[in-house]
Amino acid sequence: MPNLSSDLQPIINKRLNNLSASKIRAFDQKVSGIPNIIKLTIGEPDLATPEHVKEAAIRDINADDSHYAPQAGKPQLLKAISRYLDRSLNVHYDPDSEICVTVGATGALNDVFMTLLNPGDKIIVPTPVWALYFQLIKMTGATPIQVDTKKDGFILTPKHLRHVLNGRGKGAKAIILTDPSNPTGRVYPAETLKELAKIIKEYKIYSITDEIYAELVYGGAEHHSLSQYIPDHNILISGLSKAYAMTGWRLGYIAGPKQIMQSIRKINAFLVTSVTDNVQMAAVEALNNGQNDPKEAREIYEKRLKFMQTGLEKLGFEMATPHGAFYIFAKIPEKYGTDDEQFAFELAQKAKVGLTPGRYFGKGGEGYVRISYASSTAQLEESLKRISNFVNEL
Ligand code: PMP
Repeated sequence: MPNLSSDLQPIINKRLNNLSASKIRAFDQKVSGIPNIIKLTIGEPDLATPEHVKEAAIRDINADDSHYAPQAGKPQLLKAISRYLDRSLNVHYDPDSEICVTVGATGALNDVFMTLLNPGDKIIVPTPVWALYFQLIKMTGATPIQVDTKKDGFILTPKHLRHVLNGRGKGAKAIILTDPSNPTGRVYPAETLKELAKIIKEYKIYSITDEIYAELVYGGAEHHSLSQYIPDHNILISGLSKAYAMTGWRLGYIAGPKQIMQSIRKINAFLVTSVTDNVQMAAVEALNNGQNDPKEAREIYEKRLKFMQTGLEKLGFEMATPHGAFYIFAKIPEKYGTDDEQFAFELAQKAKVGLTPGRYFGKGGEGYVRISYASSTAQLEESLKRISNFVNEL
């Protein structure tokens, strides 16, 4: 094995050196070694990619569609995304200039942060939140301004946003909103979004909405988007990973105002050239002919949510009612201790159930655990039994 000689100058980029790897993944790996553990740690659908979507990719491979695709995306897919956004949100994005296909929603986030953020810029991040945002933002040299939303049931209120923009977040360039939320499962009501939109306009900032869970909403909740109210300020990010159980295909997209999308398309081309041909054709099939797929997934997840929520509440876990994604963010009853990391470690070791400590999702997450219910019903039933035995013994 070649070893770096110690008299060389440090080789790793300073920004990267200062960032830690994902604590969520590290925790997941740590508990993965425990025999017989049930892991409810990672946001990974247990469902399979729909057959007709797989077949579309296979057809495309067999047709030798295996060359560089247009850099912003194949025209068929750009049209399919545009039509999808039209029918689901009633917002129109021009497929030729206002959409870009990316490598997962993660690739979309990276493109957007790299396009917008200069070193020293501030961006408002309501927390608890999917923690990769912090790393990607810091890689640009910008600073995430965490805004703890716990006191308002994990929803950023218009009053709170105004307060932050006049204080710690003064001069911020943008805000990123995850709706539905990972890790809390909370969904923003249309009225709140409208009020937030007014403030975003008033302060002349931009918004980025991560809508990767848009189709997974339950209990009569509806998904709305800032793009419906301030299309000229908002950059919408989404993808097929969650609702179509396609995490491994790596297909996401961005839609936004033309002038911004020009630069986003440029950076996406620099970084990835183009997204894999057959994956794009599978996505066309999913969006054009797979409209029942998210509906079926939604029904399955909704049942699981009800089951887990009822079971956990009986055990004394409290939560702001989740209406979306596939996560429950539950407060550990104080009698079981308030240290979420310790609770999750002990639960993993003794009861063999893996949950993610809330503090890994930023401010406001301490004392909570995230439970992903994207696991089979049998596994969820067994894990609830195990959690129940564990807390009853404490
Ligand atoms: N945004 C959020 C809020 C997520 O939870 C995830 C996945 N955990 C992503 C983006 C990344 O999605 P993708 O797999 O398409 O990159």
